[in-house]
Amino acid sequence: MKNNHVTTLQIDLNSVGHNLDYFKSKLKNNTKILVVVKAFGYGSDAVEIAKSIQEQVDYFAVAYTHEGVSLRSAGITTPIMVLHPQVENLELLASNNLEPNLYNSFVLSGFLELAKKNNFQKYPIHLKFNTGLNRLGFSENDMDYLHENLSTNNHISIASVFSHLAASEDEKERLFSLGQIECFKNIKNTFQSKFGFTPMCHMCNTSGIINYPEAHFDMVRLGIGLYGFANHPKETAKLKNVISLYTVISQIHEINSGESIGYNRGYKSTKAMKSATIAIGHADGIPRSVGNGKGFVTINEKKAPILGNVCMDMMMVDISKIDCKVGDQVILYDNQETVVYFAKQANTISYEWLTAISQRVRRLIVKS
Ligand SMILES: *Cc1c(COP(=O)(O)O)cnc(C)c1O
Repeated sequence: MKNNHVTTLQIDLNSVGHNLDYFKSKLKNNTKILVVVKAFGYGSDAVEIAKSIQEQVDYFAVAYTHEGVSLRSAGITTPIMVLHPQVENLELLASNNLEPNLYNSFVLSGFLELAKKNNFQKYPIHLKFNTGLNRLGFSENDMDYLHENLSTNNHISIASVFSHLAASEDEKERLFSLGQIECFKNIKNTFQSKFGFTPMCHMCNTSGIINYPEAHFDMVRLGIGLYGFANHPKETAKLKNVISLYTVISQIHEINSGESIGYNRGYKSTKAMKSATIAIGHADGIPRSVGNGKGFVTINEKKAPILGNVCMDMMMVDISKIDCKVGDQVILYDNQETVVYFAKQANTISYEWLTAISQRVRRLIVKS
């Protein structure tokens, strides 16, 4: 059934196009671009995003196999890298023409077995190296093992070698990041001398694209920047807002002094006031941590602080000073600053905030 929820996450594809162009303008002409659409496109709509930019990008990436399958089912034909494939999904991955990131001997031998069994010819694979994040990846010391297992294996072809920066957004960690880049250059050279060729190399995420132009190599991997966030207010200001969240007023209450509002009597009034119940709650991705005045919404251009605890499906906001009625639109956010503010109030970062917006919320695509 089509999602007809009044609570709507609006996704502006014109802004997506603008942001993609902005990051492309930072690249050399021949540098390729991969766009990361994992986790429903950072909580937006991976299929709609991918459809709108597929002609302008060289690669997409997702984290898990089924995310790639849903792009293929929607007709996306661009190469898709699966960053964190699981051995039990490799068959599904290959039958959907997805390209695995192989990051250790367990997943590598799993894929080689499958490639042999099905007699794949030069199936593109990607090798990830750990240069300091200590999350996924081979180490430079694994090069002999890789050479032994891959150099004469015609079932696969090494499409790229890559690594990931741990703190590309953090100026205080510049020395560490430069160390990672040096380490990756060594890996690239060792690979070249062992294998006798250099595949496509890539290392930079959004903040890496901005802060380490010397590390763009052959391709960059753009994630959060496409969605309007650059981990720095100055850079974010150059991006257009993609994601806006709206709901409506369901009911208005006149509250007397001494009454309480919401579960656990989270708010207690000390004067006569007015509250609005709105159709969004923690099951939609608004955490309880922004309740009790830590977060606000906007109604008829005025700020309405959240009253008491956020409920699962609703929350109450203070409209004592706002002229409004049942059915009026409520803006949770329609700009990046407010998302960053919400994330900060919830003790987290824009990445977590964006991806927490649940699938119950209707996605509305706009494009002029
Ligand atoms: C998620 C991810 C990215 C994108 O990072 P952003 O900071 O969102 O640009 C790039 N590379 C890898 C390996 C990732 O997991």
